[in-house]
Amino acid sequence: MAYTLIKTEHSARRGEFATPHGTVQTPAFMNVATAAAIKGGLSAFDLKEIGCQVMLCNTYHLHLRPGDKLVAELGGLHKFTRWDGPILTDSGGFQVFSLAELRKITEEGVTFRSHLDGHKIFMGPEESMQIQANLGSTIAMAFDECIKNPAEHEYAKDSCARTVRWLKRCKTELDRLKNEGKAVNPQQMLFGINQGCCYDDLRTEHMKQIAELDLDGYALGGLAVGEPTEEMYRVISVVEPHMPKDKIRYLMGVGTPGNIIEAVSRGVDLFDCVMPSRNARHGHLNTWSGIINIKNLKYEKDETPIDPQCDCPVCRNFTRAYIRHLFKADEMLGMRLAVMHNLYFYNHLMQRIRDELDAGTFQAFHDRYVTLLDSRI
Ligand SMILES: [Zn+2]
Repeated sequence: MAYTLIKTEHSARRGEFATPHGTVQTPAFMNVATAAAIKGGLSAFDLKEIGCQVMLCNTYHLHLRPGDKLVAELGGLHKFTRWDGPILTDSGGFQVFSLAELRKITEEGVTFRSHLDGHKIFMGPEESMQIQANLGSTIAMAFDECIKNPAEHEYAKDSCARTVRWLKRCKTELDRLKNEGKAVNPQQMLFGINQGCCYDDLRTEHMKQIAELDLDGYALGGLAVGEPTEEMYRVISVVEPHMPKDKIRYLMGVGTPGNIIEAVSRGVDLFDCVMPSRNARHGHLNTWSGIINIKNLKYEKDETPIDPQCDCPVCRNFTRAYIRHLFKADEMLGMRLAVMHNLYFYNHLMQRIRDELDAGTFQAFHDRYVTLLDSRI
């Protein structure tokens, strides 16, 4: 069994997830390295320094550039990036539906045009699995349709049914690739994705169907795509009782520190989001007192670290005044240090959540920080 539930506090779960590339302590945050690199100039060595447990790479981007076949030829993503811990690859679905110029959806899959050069590409469940098998990630995500939210109930219902059929094809194809020695990682794991917009009946029915397939983990997809935050929390709580207790649960694309704390309290184990690195590149930095904008004039002569409570390599060595100067002077070091701090903050927020769960004090931690960490100061 890959996932071990160690302890619960109400719906919140403290666990461990064993993978072929090491054990992940959960709840955990996956650090997003879209094109096999963290935007902001962080390498695999830096990820070790900032407490990253899982790196996430994007199938669509790597398929276009440098090409998954090239990555396979070079030994897969682990050898290519020198990150030896777990790597999760998304299915490409989200980018196909959000970035690519498109798009024709049939039962077979999706035909679309590359957002880079416009060339025509076809991707279905089999193609997504072939690409992810070439990338050699630890965990492959199932290929699903990301429909707009809100969507008509009837369209969402048909899409859910297709997503189940596509998921079965993903499983069959990944098993075939592994059995025939065509997967760079012969122990590659597969997660299924729950869909159904904000319709409770579709969400629960879909979850029950995909739970039967006995996959390595289950994700909640199609959330944090513009619906009110309260709606997202509600959907998590509606689906959660139908998610297998002995499998890891992943909320895709979420979120702020407050979102993560709230979702953990509703039974989620795994997260990913571009927010900490993207915000950092704009000078918005997370602290245990809220979010600061390092470009503000008030930090011009501030000789304290970004966050006096933070023990990251940046806060141990540099001042707010220096980092503000780097941003103002457009020095790329400013971005790099900012991204390093924010990702450290997220990874250590998860460490703190795990410690609080271990101590049985998570609820009090939730109440103290759920709003505070998202406030701007
Ligand atoms: Zn720091």
